[in-house]
Amino acid sequence: MGAGGIGFDVAEYLTHTNGHAEGENLAAFLAEWGVDTDMVVPGGLKKSEESAAPRTVYLLQRKSSKVGEGLGKTTGWIHRTTLKKRGVTMMAGVGYERVEDGKLTVSVGGEQRALDVDSVIVCAGQEPLTELRAGLEAAGLPVHLIGGARETNGLDAKIAIRDGIELAAKL
Ligand SMILES: Cc1cc2nc3c(=O)[nH]c(=O)nc-3n(C[C@H](O)[C@H](O)[C@H](O)COP(=O)(O)OP(=O)(O)OC[C@H]3O[C@@H](n4cnc5c(N)ncnc54)[C@H](O)[C@@H]3O)c2cc1C
Repeated sequence: MGAGGIGFDVAEYLTHTNGHAEGENLAAFLAEWGVDTDMVVPGGLKKSEESAAPRTVYLLQRKSSKVGEGLGKTTGWIHRTTLKKRGVTMMAGVGYERVEDGKLTVSVGGEQRALDVDSVIVCAGQEPLTELRAGLEAAGLPVHLIGGARETNGLDAKIAIRDGIELAAKL
């Protein structure tokens, strides 16, 4: 559930063949993307090898816009293509109804669908975790909240790193 950057990453992880990332194995990477290292095929691109995913994965989002629309302009197409090649079913405009008896029931376009699932993974946002704050303040220690502890809405690594650098400069 949830098809933002984290949903995409998790779907990619779950569809690694034999639990290995193709990107870390040169031969598998070249085969997956059809790179012709023999320079025989014009353009250097041959038909890519399909890598059967070890499981069925549904990537679902509530928004009705294209799945993966918010991914980075330069890398989004890679993530979408990878998941399509691995047979991941992407569905937009999904309403979540219930989970019971090994089925996740969703509504799409006014129709109900019961998906056979053994795991439901929620990638639908985060909340700050600041459980240490009160105790530290009670002990008289200065506390600064940065990154995801400060705000999770729209958070990315750039914002978290910036928070850290700016605070370090102030201190
Ligand atoms: C799967 C995934 C993919 C992502 N992809 C991208 C991406 O491509 N680009 C991008 O910009 N952002 C990406 N992000 C978001 C990015 O990782 C976060 O925005 C960023 O890491 C937030 O940094 P942070 O320092 O606030 O928190 P975190 O990186 O979460 O660091 C918090 C640290 O605090 C530790 N901690 C928590 N509680 C305690 C405790 N009680 N005691 C001691 N230590 C504790 C945790 O173990 C962790 O190491 C992704 C996130 C995920 C989950």
